[in-house]
Amino acid sequence: MTIIQADWIVTCDEYDNIIENGCIVFDDTIIDLGSFEDISSKYPNTPITTTAPNTVILPGLINPHVHLEFSANKTTLKYGNFMTWLNSVIEHRAQLIEKADTELIDNELQAILKNGTTTIGAISSYGFDMESLQKTKLNVVHFSEIIGSNASMVDTLFADFQARLKASAKLKSDRYTPAIAIHSPYSVHPFLIRETLKLAREQNLSVTAHFLESIEEKEWLESSSGGMSDFFKNFLNQTQSITKAHEFLNQFKGIENLSFTHCCQANDEELETIDELNATIIHCPVSNRFLTNSTLEYKNIAHRSFALGTDGLSSNYSLSLWEEMKNALFIHQHINITDLSKKLLNASTKGGAKALGMKNKGSLKKSYDADIITVTLPDACEKKDIFLQLILHTSNSSATFIKGEKIV
Ligand SMILES: [Zn+2]
Repeated sequence: MTIIQADWIVTCDEYDNIIENGCIVFDDTIIDLGSFEDISSKYPNTPITTTAPNTVILPGLINPHVHLEFSANKTTLKYGNFMTWLNSVIEHRAQLIEKADTELIDNELQAILKNGTTTIGAISSYGFDMESLQKTKLNVVHFSEIIGSNASMVDTLFADFQARLKASAKLKSDRYTPAIAIHSPYSVHPFLIRETLKLAREQNLSVTAHFLESIEEKEWLESSSGGMSDFFKNFLNQTQSITKAHEFLNQFKGIENLSFTHCCQANDEELETIDELNATIIHCPVSNRFLTNSTLEYKNIAHRSFALGTDGLSSNYSLSLWEEMKNALFIHQHINITDLSKKLLNASTKGGAKALGMKNKGSLKKSYDADIITVTLPDACEKKDIFLQLILHTSNSSATFIKGEKIV
């Protein structure tokens, strides 16, 4: 059993409880938390580890949407327009994937751990990330991804997907959870969606999908027109969209743990359907800024429990949620910065846990997993400013515990 004291404990629980001069008691799960006086009198025989002044204890960050297989991109891919980016991905994909070997992915995972992230949702297009994800100390939800809109290819694509999912399922442990990603409404044939969701329901797997990221995607789904038409005609000899946005969403009924990433172009009706599905929206503000010059409007997430994701290095310069939160402060520039900070830190902890279907993570609560980080602020701050100051002054955690084991 370990007890740690700090000037502040930010619980990210449903009451947004913040404890001043508090202690947390844990082994692999959280046993207790409260004020220094209460905990020291309740556990008189257990030594208390103290921390530096202005240290904050908080839940480990949860990044539910990252593409590690694209980690080799630094300066290759083109930003500023979704179709320009997509074409640059097609052009450089083979070389980027080859460059992202196990060592490169291992290094990215080490950096993710160092900054205080304890859980990731990794979207895996090829299964090339599995060796690294099997070794890492991070908690991993591994989303084997299905993609392909060409009807003549569906059997081959589904067989390949099943083989990858099977290989992922073999790695299942209390730290590694296999799951399913459906790339997007425009890129996956309805037959493949139906069959993969059938597997998800049978095996109770979490599911995620990209949804209405760009205006080009919306135009294509609505009227088979716009910027995507040339792409489909040239690469896939396809002139009609295979589905509509609402038809796509309606296929997900009965999936227990579900998330949709981006949703920048989703209208009120589509957002309501996402609510009815009890799905979480994963907001990736930097990726949206880079690829589409747009964002998910804050009014569409303010009253919802949402998650924050970095997306991959194919559309970001960093896989740190602290960077993502800092940038979100500027992207949503008309929202009160103090209120927004609180929302963003909750999105990066308990929002991520909900997106991944992890019921015992994302908050500091009794019986939850002891995924805990400490962060030391450079000076004292008031209780109401703590979320903002954490975001402004943190790059790395000072300590990281996963299921009670000290990792960093
Ligand atoms: Zn993505």
